Amino acid sequence: MVDLIKRAKELIETSAVRVVIGYEQGIGNKTRALFVEKAEDAGKLIFDSRCVQNLAVYITKKEIKEKGKMAIAATLPVMRSIIQLASEFQVNDNNLLVLGITAESKLIEFANLVEVETFVHQYQIEIDARNKEMLDKLGKMTQAERWKFWIDELAPCFKCYACRAACPMCYCHRCTVDFNQPQWIPVPSHELGNLEWHIMRAMHLTGRCIDCDACYNACPLSIPINLLTKKMLEDAKEHFGGYQPSLKGDHLMSTYKPDDKENFIH
Ligand code: SF4
Ligand code: SF4
Repeated sequence: MVDLIKRAKELIETSAVRVVIGYEQGIGNKTRALFVEKAEDAGKLIFDSRCVQNLAVYITKKEIKEKGKMAIAATLPVMRSIIQLASEFQVNDNNLLVLGITAESKLIEFANLVEVETFVHQYQIEIDARNKEMLDKLGKMTQAERWKFWIDELAPCFKCYACRAACPMCYCHRCTVDFNQPQWIPVPSHELGNLEWHIMRAMHLTGRCIDCDACYNACPLSIPINLLTKKMLEDAKEHFGGYQPSLKGDHLMSTYKPDDKENFIH
């Protein structure tokens, strides 16, 4: 992507930013994240349909923030993540420049995050047809069938936490699952512990997950954990006035309204 390479080179040469985060060719047919800190490395930047890793996962990392102002090559899901992270006070205009990449692979340099937000607002998060069909199928199951489905699907999870590492919204320095004094979630992989880990993960991401599928793509066992967050996304939209993350305003799980429904309390 010539425009991106050219702009990344200029940004580093003029010290407008200290690092440009983008994609480079990885092993085999895979791509991986590239951190351009020297102008001569800008030529390694690539962009094509294989570049689906959510690069926003890096912008909250201490090691990257310490370098100084960063620029990031951002597809729509990455831009959504950035706006969600900005609404959680994790990034701002002083430490981030967004080099947007449109669906037509065009480069748009945004002057600030307000402009990124305006761009993102044009596109609703839509669950793709295959996953929608799966959610509908799950919705039609009895409670017992659904319970069995998830017990079976989550059984092979061996808690490698690759899904957590790939998610831009999982930026806590220490996750609840890493505590052993007290231990909230059991460390070994077993039925109850796996269920607890994934329920906890889905709940922490409700109203924040921007549906990029990076967690699912990172799972070595292809466990469909993204169905849990997709379901929460659908429910939030249906029950809370079309709510969706990545749009500034009230945060779903930290906002209370006197007329909120209470029919979940029995
Ligand atoms: S789809 Fe997965 S990786 Fe992407 S924001 Fe949601 S939970 Fe995080
Ligand atoms: S990446 Fe897959 S196996 Fe690893 S913790 Fe997540 S769901 Fe479990």
